[in-house]
Amino acid sequence: MKNILITGGAGFIGSNFIPYFLEKYLEYNIINLDLLTYAGNLENLKEVENNPRYKFIKGDICNRELVEYIFKEYDIRGVIHFAAESHVDNSIKNPGVFVRTNVDGTYTLLDVAKNYWMEKPFKYKDEYKGCRFHHISTDEVYGTLPDDPNVLFTEETPYAPNSPYSASKASSDMIVRSYYHTFGMDTVITNCSNNYGPKQHDEKLIPTIIRNALAGNPIPIYGDGKNIRDWLYVLDHCKGIDLAYHKGGAGETYNIGGRNERTNIYIATKICEILDELRPRKSRSYKELITFVEDRPGHDRRYAIDATKIENELGWKADENFESGIVKTIKWYLEKYK
Ligand code: NAD
Repeated sequence: MKNILITGGAGFIGSNFIPYFLEKYLEYNIINLDLLTYAGNLENLKEVENNPRYKFIKGDICNRELVEYIFKEYDIRGVIHFAAESHVDNSIKNPGVFVRTNVDGTYTLLDVAKNYWMEKPFKYKDEYKGCRFHHISTDEVYGTLPDDPNVLFTEETPYAPNSPYSASKASSDMIVRSYYHTFGMDTVITNCSNNYGPKQHDEKLIPTIIRNALAGNPIPIYGDGKNIRDWLYVLDHCKGIDLAYHKGGAGETYNIGGRNERTNIYIATKICEILDELRPRKSRSYKELITFVEDRPGHDRRYAIDATKIENELGWKADENFESGIVKTIKWYLEKYK
């Protein structure tokens, strides 16, 4: 049995990842370290809470003493690091906590892992050879793209983060990179596009659209609604993380994205159309609730991922496109908001 530390497992992506991982790998115990900020919710992990191979620890990734204790107590053999402040709007209101958690927190985890696993630079202790640190990151580190559909983010695209959120993630990616180049630590980074699916926090775009529609409230859409994101169903992201963690090259980065570019207004309209079928309003479409609101400052226009590297080298491909994944997602939220 191997003990793997997962951070931020009570958030959206981590809480989709943990049940998937526990079920697939019977030889792993999972230790989930999560501070349970407003974004973490143990309800998302009900299905695994009694699993003998799962342990939850409430705590802060910036707390070095705690992280050191966890490494020693559980003899940690791998890290998959999801914990972060993740909402761009919050990073505009309160950037400091993004720097603390995303930069200091990542540094603390990496540094403790290095000291626990390694004797000196480029020399792992014999019993910890192969122990890997997988950092979960975002395509937002690359900044924004022009509308030209032929231009996509590749792993070679220079970093140009525009929000305090993406700047803090870019910084954390650079620290991870430095631990590979300076200390020879076995690291891997995945940069993923926008995820959607069950268990996402209410504040994010898709739950916001569904919740407001069902309540008969205005559905707020920033600016002209033409901002483009490359939407990926969360389980497809989990499968990409699994592949990169197990088969990715040390020091490599992999972009994960669904080749599903959609404008925000398309997303809102599509959700309204599906709700019109699944939960019709009295003789009116939910589309009437769509309302344009003042744009987010510094709002990136377009993100789109070229996932060729992970597809060709590791055999990843998305199982869902937006139109199939969104139906599953809406059905899950219809249960949640009923
Ligand atoms: P989330 O906000 O839903 O969850 C973050 C989790 O981290 C929460 O459970 C929270 O309690 C925990 N956390 C926050 N600060 C902590 C701290 N100091 N110590 C311990 N735990 C702490 O985020 P998410 O959407 O699940 O994203 C997970 C990761 O994936 C993040 O690193 C994010 O940057 C990245 N990512 C997200 C998306 C997306 O579309 N959601 C896309 C690409 C990459």
